[in-house]
Amino acid sequence: LEPAFFFLIRVRLPGGIATPQQWLQMDELADRYANGTLKLTTRQAFQLHGVIKKNLKTTIQGINEVLLDTIAACGDVNRNVMSHANPAESALHAQVYELAGEISRHLTPQTPAYHEIWLDKQLLVSSKEEIEPIYGRTYLPRKFKIGIAIPPYNDVDVFSQDLGFIAIEEKGELAGFNVTAGGGMGSTFGNPNTYPRLGDVIGFCRPDQVLKVAETIVLIQKEYGNRQDRKRARLKYTIDDHGLEWFKQEVNKRLGFELESPRSFRFIRNGDRYGWKQGTDGKWSLNLFVEGGRVKDTPSLRLKTALREVAQQVTDAKFILTGNQNLIIANTDKKETVAKILKKHNVWPATLSGLRKNSIACVALNTCGLAFAEAERYLPALVGKIESILKEYDLLKEEIVIRMTGCPNGCGRPYLAEIGLIGKSVGHYNLYLGGNKKGTRLNTLYRETLTEDEILETLKPIFADYAKNKKSGEGFGDFVIRKKYVKETVQGKDFRH
Ligand code: SF4
Repeated sequence: LEPAFFFLIRVRLPGGIATPQQWLQMDELADRYANGTLKLTTRQAFQLHGVIKKNLKTTIQGINEVLLDTIAACGDVNRNVMSHANPAESALHAQVYELAGEISRHLTPQTPAYHEIWLDKQLLVSSKEEIEPIYGRTYLPRKFKIGIAIPPYNDVDVFSQDLGFIAIEEKGELAGFNVTAGGGMGSTFGNPNTYPRLGDVIGFCRPDQVLKVAETIVLIQKEYGNRQDRKRARLKYTIDDHGLEWFKQEVNKRLGFELESPRSFRFIRNGDRYGWKQGTDGKWSLNLFVEGGRVKDTPSLRLKTALREVAQQVTDAKFILTGNQNLIIANTDKKETVAKILKKHNVWPATLSGLRKNSIACVALNTCGLAFAEAERYLPALVGKIESILKEYDLLKEEIVIRMTGCPNGCGRPYLAEIGLIGKSVGHYNLYLGGNKKGTRLNTLYRETLTEDEILETLKPIFADYAKNKKSGEGFGDFVIRKKYVKETVQGKDFRH
């Protein structure tokens, strides 16, 4: 008798959009084969947790029935392509979403192994090399992440991506994209050769050049990425080891044309914009807060039930997973129906502090095998305790980005937060300060291995100072740098100062 192994299943969803039918299927699979909940990830994907080994195949076949799959959701390949959250916002947003799908299709492994193993399909082609045009026999040295942002919103944290595209609008049209390369969040405790890094803007390309640019950069990483040391195998290290100028020249040489000079752009924030918005087509979208990205029912808030009812009754809507683990019920004429269902189940309207609205937590314990500490199950309670302090200083409405992960791999992008907490051991966290609301600055280690009491004691006097001495409109992350609580981290390499 073998042990009852259980698994996580991650479902790829380029740009994060699911139909009501797909939502209902994921909801049902979660109940039938997983732990009865759905996790919306920071890469706009679904995760099912606790799937017993003998149910893996049936679950994956169920996912496939609604035209979703798990191909390249993990592994040393291009992962789920992220895109600005709501294509219903304008024609340009829709264009960018389509492009995210094209990049995803172009960089998805062609191997039929997935279909043979999980969907019982027969092998039709025997030469693996012929059918794997980009990844070849070796695949990539490590995972590869791509995201597309549309300024002024950076809700995909474009500088955290191996490869990023920043949409540039000119005269109401999509002129093209600034290209960023070399972002990445992971680091390893005690290994100074590892660090989070922000992507560099390396040029500008037109929309019809995006696939070529993406493929070229993936191929450079495939060839030059570090295959000796997995801890240093991401594109960010390839760029730092060979130099940014070398990288740009290599890109241009392989493209056969020069990327143009980057165009100017401005980000104002990386968080979601909650509440109802009307698109240019007159339809309505509601950005909901989903704490920790976990869709579940609790006695006071029946989120899973509410969303199931919305999917059953509002069949014209889209379900859009945002890069901040939240959900947009998008592009519907049935605003009243959605509002009624959500109110009935106590989901929306919701009163949230500025801190909670800007919180992200990775799964961590007890689901992730790499976690040293809690994150998703603990952050809501810690936020509640920090809120008590914020209330004392009349800072409850202040938007402060807080992110917690159970280890330094950084899945919840904690190195970009104004308050980053990274699990060191059970009940202990490193505290990082000094990121900003735009996702354009790394934070800096402030204190190590803190308990909950120590976190609260450490933050309290800083909040008191912030309440008293912040300048008008000054963010918490900017304040802690101005007041020299931490030194600004300019380059990933200097992360440890
Ligand atoms: Fe990622 Fe680490 Fe969180 Fe696991 S514990 S989800 S590896 S950040």
